[in-house]
Amino acid sequence: MKKEDLLNDILDESISKSGMSRREALKMMAISPVAASVLAGSTVASTKANASDAVGHIVIVGGGAGAIMVLSRLKNALNNPNITIIAPNEVHLYQPGQVFMAAGEYTFEDIVMDNNDWIDDSVKWVKDEVATFDAPNNKVITRAGDEISYDYLVVATGIEYNYEAIEGLTKEDIGTNGISSVYLNDLEKGTANGGIITHKWFESVQEASTKGKPTVVFTQPSTPIKCGGAPQKMLYLCDDNLKRNELSANMIFATASKKLFSLPTIDEALHKVQKRYNNITNHFGHDLKKIDIKAKKATFRHIYEIQGEVDEDFGGYEMITKVDTVEIDYDFIHVVPPMRAPHALRKSDLGWQKGSAKGWLEVDKESLQHRRYKNVFGIGDVCGIPMGKTGGSARHHGPVLVENLIAQMESKELKAKFDGYTVCPLKVQYGEIIMAEFNYNGLAPSFSFLDPAQPRWIWWAFDLYMLKPMYKYLMMKGRM
Ligand SMILES: Cc1cc2nc3c(=O)[nH]c(=O)nc-3n(C[C@H](O)[C@H](O)[C@H](O)COP(=O)(O)OP(=O)(O)OC[C@H]3O[C@@H](n4cnc5c(N)ncnc54)[C@H](O)[C@@H]3O)c2cc1C
Repeated sequence: MKKEDLLNDILDESISKSGMSRREALKMMAISPVAASVLAGSTVASTKANASDAVGHIVIVGGGAGAIMVLSRLKNALNNPNITIIAPNEVHLYQPGQVFMAAGEYTFEDIVMDNNDWIDDSVKWVKDEVATFDAPNNKVITRAGDEISYDYLVVATGIEYNYEAIEGLTKEDIGTNGISSVYLNDLEKGTANGGIITHKWFESVQEASTKGKPTVVFTQPSTPIKCGGAPQKMLYLCDDNLKRNELSANMIFATASKKLFSLPTIDEALHKVQKRYNNITNHFGHDLKKIDIKAKKATFRHIYEIQGEVDEDFGGYEMITKVDTVEIDYDFIHVVPPMRAPHALRKSDLGWQKGSAKGWLEVDKESLQHRRYKNVFGIGDVCGIPMGKTGGSARHHGPVLVENLIAQMESKELKAKFDGYTVCPLKVQYGEIIMAEFNYNGLAPSFSFLDPAQPRWIWWAFDLYMLKPMYKYLMMKGRM
């Protein structure tokens, strides 16, 4: 399909949903970073004209954002691709849309895509999961027991939720007794109940606020999580619902983190946002450990520092770390599960063997090549690197991975480097987003003339109407 036709498709789908005029949509496309790169013609990473003759059997494990992006890019970049993809799911969920489902802006149908649109007959598709990664012998074993050998392996298995690490809670409790979790989905089965449940939960919070002032708790765990901004997105959207109806509640943000955001500029902006609502209390250093569902009581491990003796060698005071337990009574609780690498990877030799990234794929943070197995590469959430468990990061991993994998196949030096890019579209109220883009060096806004700390409608419209078709027609086709 020609680039112009592709843009027309995207515009038409966006316009039909947004109620915007074609002119307004074009105006917005012109200032959006991804659209700008499309318009500038920089999206097609490789064409058959400059494709590589490198050969080898490449196995891609996973059927989500990262896996499909790599697959499409490799098909564009190799003259004789010999690719097997091992992915159990035909249904492909556009997971960022789960937040818009909670907001009542998307239905489930809006986030459902089809892997058959991108995995064609030129590729061998094994519809199963990898049960065992046997890296020393260059093979994987599926749940059905099939052994599949590879010359090169791309691991794109994403993240595993671990709701059960919270004592007293199971996945089945979500949607009952005032408990919600926007994250809830099953990628293998193609279900995403979290969005629907959280939308109903917003309505229940609102209903309860007409009768009194309920306590509503939003948690964030100490593990790495995908889309680190989602816990706060839920807090602000839920509170905005109340504010618009002249209602209020005791909103508590209980996070294992010490700050609202790692970057000071965005942290400050979020504190400013919280002042708009005037009903939010932050509990920093609080990691949810237990829920008593019947008593509606949440128990947190609270880690904090107190000032100790004067440190005469260094000046100032010694800081002493304290740990205690805090119980909070709630009426409603939005739980973000602890997350970890998928089981098959954790029990393999491919994960980091120790340290804070233990179990996550041991790849170099710039080349995305495995540090011990040079024919193995990683993309997306599964990577044990300091930044970026977002689709936005995976989009930036894609071209780096493909360039370096082909260099490895051609026995050349690996030159492409991932700069740590990630993006967090923080929905601070209905119709307003702070677009936090950053990399290993700090803030990295696509448009330096737009203050990144400023909440903007344009980012909301871009996220709601443009990003999904771009994901479907450009990113998943390896064109962006
Ligand atoms: C509520 C929510 C909001 C989000 N918001 C945003 C946002 O605003 N912006 C953003 O950029 N990102 C956002 N994300 C994150 C984004 O969806 C992920 O970062 C992205 O999907 C990561 O891609 P991935 O390929 O690494 O993993 P996934 O897309 O999760 O795919 C993993 C795939 O691996 C498969 N798999 C797992 N184990 C195995 C195995 N053993 N064998 C074979 N296959 C296996 C799964 O079935 C799945 O197909 C959000 C996510 C959620 C849940």
